[in-house]
Amino acid sequence: MADEKEIKWTGVKDMPPMAVSLGSMRVNKTGNWRNLRPVIDYEKCIYCFICWKFCPEPSIDIEAAQISERVDKKPVINLNYCKGCGICAEECPVKCIEMVKEEI
Ligand code: SF4
Ligand code: SF4
Repeated sequence: MADEKEIKWTGVKDMPPMAVSLGSMRVNKTGNWRNLRPVIDYEKCIYCFICWKFCPEPSIDIEAAQISERVDKKPVINLNYCKGCGICAEECPVKCIEMVKEEI
């Protein structure tokens, strides 16, 4: 159209500020997006940490834990950052992560 101003797109520097994530992933707490929450069944977990590897947010912490006879590490969901995408549950090789509905 003749009187519409032509938009010249020259790259990411032209994007409006709120279209991009500001700061590091630790600053942006994505947990309030969530309507499903992952719950790990530690009886079935084999501590492979594939969930940690695939999680797109910094929302699976690895914490020290007593596992049967030994002290080892286990995955713990950090709900400040977990957005409930379910990738961890999908990728878990023994399907020990259940996505449950958030209580509002
Ligand atoms: S549901 Fe998504 S964001 Fe939350 S722990 Fe699993 S992979 Fe990470
Ligand atoms: S992917 Fe599943 S089995 Fe592996 S550490 Fe995570 S919860 Fe445990």
